[in-house]
Amino acid sequence: MTTRPMPGSQSSLREANRQRLLGALERYGAITQVELAEVTGLSAATVSTIVKELLGTGEVDTRNTVRSGRRAQLVRLAQPSGLGVGVHVGRRSLRVLVGDQQHDVLAERSLPLPGDHRVDTTLDRVALLIVDLVEQIGSSIDEVGGIGVVLPAPVDPRTGLVSGRGVLSGWEGVAVGEVLSRRVRAPVVVENDATAALIAESRFGAARGCSDVVYVRASHLTGAGMLVGGRLHRGRRGIAGEIGHVEVDAAGAICQCGSRGCLNTVVGADALVDLLRISRSGITLRDLVALANEGDPGCRQVVADAGATIGSVVAGLALAFDPECVVVGGELAETGEILLGPLREAIRRRVMLTGDEAVRVLPAELGQRAEVRGAAALAFDAARPVAGAAAQGGVS
Ligand SMILES: [Zn+2]
Repeated sequence: MTTRPMPGSQSSLREANRQRLLGALERYGAITQVELAEVTGLSAATVSTIVKELLGTGEVDTRNTVRSGRRAQLVRLAQPSGLGVGVHVGRRSLRVLVGDQQHDVLAERSLPLPGDHRVDTTLDRVALLIVDLVEQIGSSIDEVGGIGVVLPAPVDPRTGLVSGRGVLSGWEGVAVGEVLSRRVRAPVVVENDATAALIAESRFGAARGCSDVVYVRASHLTGAGMLVGGRLHRGRRGIAGEIGHVEVDAAGAICQCGSRGCLNTVVGADALVDLLRISRSGITLRDLVALANEGDPGCRQVVADAGATIGSVVAGLALAFDPECVVVGGELAETGEILLGPLREAIRRRVMLTGDEAVRVLPAELGQRAEVRGAAALAFDAARPVAGAAAQGGVS
């Protein structure tokens, strides 16, 4: 005898809807009932009925908040269990975050890395930092349900290995997931930085509620992530969105990848600070951003020109994918409209199919935390694949 509901019956449908809703709560943390209806595709009445049942059984609770100036009630899982760890290995920095199932940040630390950091010593550091942070919040390493690791390189979604040649020297062919899961004994997911930031912005930030998004990460190098019809588009080998290697100057410099005149050779940090060698010799990307924000005309010009060049490449993506919005993040985006204005204008000039503003170009909301928050969200998805699949109606 089995007590499983028959497929297609009323009770199996109700159970599937319930799982879908619980899956969405695991993905998004605290969320309103209106948003729950949007991301699960269930009707408002069904969401309301299921939430009442779950409140009755104590599986969820509610908390009051303010959304767009109005009072709203957030629904969340009542007893978060397990921890998710996000790790962002950047070109010059390392950031590790420990979060709970409600996607609250419990502990976080960032460290500078040497420019040519090695994979083995960096992964050693990552493992030690995870243990440290977990102890700091009085938990044990056994409570870590999953780890998401974000790298500044394309990652093959089938293998978790770095897939671009020459883009992250020393890391190609290294099974980062295996190395780290041996040390911390939790499932590890490896992801590209722009894609991880897109996941965070679409679940918790500027692209919340949008199902067709291009996320542009303008930092030391430039890359993009794409959400198409609510699903991540990584391509076959994870190369999709590597706009830093689109040719913008046929007579330009040779890129890391071996091609000539890639976007990165024109708007990468080295190229930008090199343009300032006469007026502001020896500055870093961080200095450039700070000086532009303080009104330095040369630095503002460099950032604005970079915005226009990036915009001309993103316009191509916008024509290919017709997104609802383009979200711009990364260190260069901390200059706000200095970068965004010319970037928006370059897209508008090339994508004028509808007369009104065809594509909204928005600043990212999560700042330097976007990648690591996306990584932690992936860690929870990896720890609970069933619930993750149940919420496929939302952002994947
Ligand atoms: Zn290139």
